[in-house]
Amino acid sequence: MKPLGKIKTLSPSKTLFWVIFTPPLILSLAAVCFLFFSRISDLEQQLDNKALIISDLLVSTSQVALASNNTPISPQLLQNALSYGDVHNIEIFNSKYRIVAETGAAPYLPSPTLTEQAVSEQKDDAIIRITPIYHIIPTEVDEISGQPDFVNLRTPNHLIGWVKVEISKDKLAIQTYQLISLLALFFAFFNSITAYIAWQASNYLARPSEIITGAINNLVKGQFASAKSLKLSPQFSLLEKGIRDLAERLESHKEELNAGIEQSTEDLRSNLDSLEEKSAQLHIANKEAMESNRLKSQFLANISHEVRTPLNAILGYTKILQKNLVDDQQKIYIDTIEQSTNSLLAIIGDILDFSKIEAGKLSLDHGDVNLRELVDDVYQILSASLLTSEKQIDLVPEFSEDVPQWVTGDAVRIRQILNNLIGNAIKFTHKGSIRTKVTVVKQTSEQLLLSFKVIDTGIGIPENKLNRLFKPFSQVDNSTTRQFGGTGLGLVITKKLVEQMDGNIDVYSDQKNGSTFYFTLNLQPSEKTDQTPEKLNKQFILLEPSHLYRLYLTHYLKSIGVQCTACSTLEQVIAKLGQQDTDIDGLLISITPSDKSANEAHELISYASLQFQIPSILMIQPPGQTTHYPALKAICSSTLLKPISHKHLYHALKTISLPIQIDAATPLLPKQQPNIAEAQTPIESQPAIDSQAQQTESEQQTHGLKVLAVDDTPINLQLMSHWLTPNGIEVTLAYSGQQAINIAKENTFDLILMDIQMPEMDGIETTKQLRTLEAYQDIPIIAVTAHALGIEREKMLLSGINAYLTKPIDENILLNTIVKWCTKKGNYQEQLNSEIANAFDVNKALEIVNHKTDIAKEMFDMLADTLEDEKRLIKHHFEHQDLEKLIHVVHRIHGASKYTGTINMTRHAGYLETHLKELGFEEVEGVLEDFLDAIDQVINARHWIKWPQE
Ligand code: ADP
Repeated sequence: MKPLGKIKTLSPSKTLFWVIFTPPLILSLAAVCFLFFSRISDLEQQLDNKALIISDLLVSTSQVALASNNTPISPQLLQNALSYGDVHNIEIFNSKYRIVAETGAAPYLPSPTLTEQAVSEQKDDAIIRITPIYHIIPTEVDEISGQPDFVNLRTPNHLIGWVKVEISKDKLAIQTYQLISLLALFFAFFNSITAYIAWQASNYLARPSEIITGAINNLVKGQFASAKSLKLSPQFSLLEKGIRDLAERLESHKEELNAGIEQSTEDLRSNLDSLEEKSAQLHIANKEAMESNRLKSQFLANISHEVRTPLNAILGYTKILQKNLVDDQQKIYIDTIEQSTNSLLAIIGDILDFSKIEAGKLSLDHGDVNLRELVDDVYQILSASLLTSEKQIDLVPEFSEDVPQWVTGDAVRIRQILNNLIGNAIKFTHKGSIRTKVTVVKQTSEQLLLSFKVIDTGIGIPENKLNRLFKPFSQVDNSTTRQFGGTGLGLVITKKLVEQMDGNIDVYSDQKNGSTFYFTLNLQPSEKTDQTPEKLNKQFILLEPSHLYRLYLTHYLKSIGVQCTACSTLEQVIAKLGQQDTDIDGLLISITPSDKSANEAHELISYASLQFQIPSILMIQPPGQTTHYPALKAICSSTLLKPISHKHLYHALKTISLPIQIDAATPLLPKQQPNIAEAQTPIESQPAIDSQAQQTESEQQTHGLKVLAVDDTPINLQLMSHWLTPNGIEVTLAYSGQQAINIAKENTFDLILMDIQMPEMDGIETTKQLRTLEAYQDIPIIAVTAHALGIEREKMLLSGINAYLTKPIDENILLNTIVKWCTKKGNYQEQLNSEIANAFDVNKALEIVNHKTDIAKEMFDMLADTLEDEKRLIKHHFEHQDLEKLIHVVHRIHGASKYTGTINMTRHAGYLETHLKELGFEEVEGVLEDFLDAIDQVINARHWIKWPQE
């Protein structure tokens, strides 16, 4: 590889030189070699021939002498032979191998090998030829001469001697040297000339390229002057020009570049200065930020503490008030205050925990924890606050057998984790169940690794949002339809707590089947031993409509020695009671918080105790509370809140007995929960209206107004109702957008108060739909929102909302807004009177019955009571295009209305009846609508009719 490398680095002229010179060099070498070897071979051949000729000559001349034995060989003969140039030595041997004649110098080969054949031997210094000499005896005699015939010899010859001739190579050597000198001379001469020519040619051809290379090298080095003065032969003039141009351009470019670099360096220097300044400022700002962050955490901790203190006072006094209050309405208010305060406390707790975790200051306690009781407790507390009569979910704990009753850990924090996960599960589940599964993953004497799963059948979490869950302040649903509030910190805190207990948390969820949050906790076994409760050995009938809960209860009852017959319906229980084939110790009855269910349970319990002296235990699903059903409570051995606590159920089962109070006269209907919308009780604690005068004035303005309040939070609705009702406003409550639309279709209102954030259909959508109804195109709709900002506000106004109030609402502002928007339409009472006058003529009604007010009122009421049903019937027949039945209903109303003063309705009934009879369903829509409006008019006017006093 090295020589190649060398060749590679040769200059172009040298390369060219070798390219031109190498072929003649090789050729001349070949020619010289050829000449030399062919000449040497010729000379050697000549010597050989010389040896042959001399040998043959001597053989023929010495033959006779050797044959006759005594005749000596003529020395002259040998001398003659020696006179041939180059003969070094001649020897003649007889048949006895003895030299008989010899001449010349000392032989090179003194004792040769003599054979019957002629031999020629090449030595370094000589050529040696040995030829045998035969004696030829002629057997025939030539007829003419009478001499022996030597031509036609027929007898075998006799070997009589040998001739050895040595030819010296001395001359040949000299000739060789001469030849070499000659050829070398020729070779040198020829190649010198060729090399000279090759050198000249290569120089001529390679020179310009070397100059160009040099010029480009100079360009590269930035020596533009030498490149610009480049001179090439005329045939390269274009190239020369190009290189000069290039040099010029590069030179100017370099100058520009240098100028630019100088400028940039200058800029850089000044930037560096300002950067240094900025970095110093940043450093200071960073320090300040860190300090303010520390202050923020401290502030958060302080403020949380400061807020907790008054909240505790509120809670404390609320508890005292709860004990002393007798008025149900006020009790509800106090309960609401308590609930709200608790939520506030929870939020503050979250924030405090979060700031503690952020500051790494959260530490764990170690104590004995009864896991089963803890889960029961969490279920109890959460179900009481989160379940509603519409949302009835089964809350089922599932502990595997090997989970010990007692473990060592931080009870408060475990409760917090479960509270958050189960709380979320209840919030986001509308029907079905929430199961909490606890199993042992690993247990040693030191360690107890437990796995928890909170499995719900709720709305689930979209896959693309799962990764947000454990990030602070993030909630899956940020839209206005978000159903539940919250800080978005729950799961973050939960995750931190789980990790602090050396566990992991994760979730899988799909929007069909719900979510499962699963986590592990690394706890320690407790020294406290499990206590298996004493077996009760009782027989019970269980009434539990939910399959899952029934299974769960049956399983638990079995574990404490209670044999139970599980029923899902009341009828099954009655049938079992009727059989009476075994001794039943009691009934375990589960009811949902509805009047129907309570009534049925009441009858069943009474029946069982009166007929069979079998006591009952009642289980109520929240939000139903034992206090809501005092009548039921009185006839039960004990009442438990679902999900049942094992401890309470065990106690209730153990101490079951017939209550003393039971008698047949116990009222069958449970005490109704007061309907706040209808409550007319004056509220002493009403804070917003300052003076009596003011109250009277606003009452006058608002009296008789019909307001529809829409909000998904019962607490807010209660508050509205509480503020508006004392001002003479008739408040109707709707708990969802859909419900509001349904109510609005059936009634008329003067104003609607609309919450914006609602599940399923938010306030904006509800308003849009209301505005499509003819009756609601001009009715003021006032939004009540916590989101009165930017786009939100625009969106609201565009949807048809007239104005908005921002939460928290001030009572005075609310009333003023209502007055302002209702009086905008003109005098409300006037409008009302004209509306009533249109629908109903009191004089006409009285005239027909001879001014007997009570008869007129009774007749009117009889008709008015049926109107709602009749309306539905009309719509139904119209939808099913049942002409005959429709005419029949319209005719009935027409007839009845003639005697009740309902002039407008009578008129429209007449129109419709005639139309139907004459034209059938053809273009009846308008006439039918007018008739239905007239019916609505009567229904609405009904409350405002002032009958004369008798
Ligand atoms: P917050 O403290 O405000 O309740 P979390 O961190 O506990 O916040 O929950 C964050 C969000 O995760 C919730 O707002 C909800 O959108 C979603 N989420 C949590 N648990 C569930 C669940 N079981 N089903 C559906 N969504 C859930």
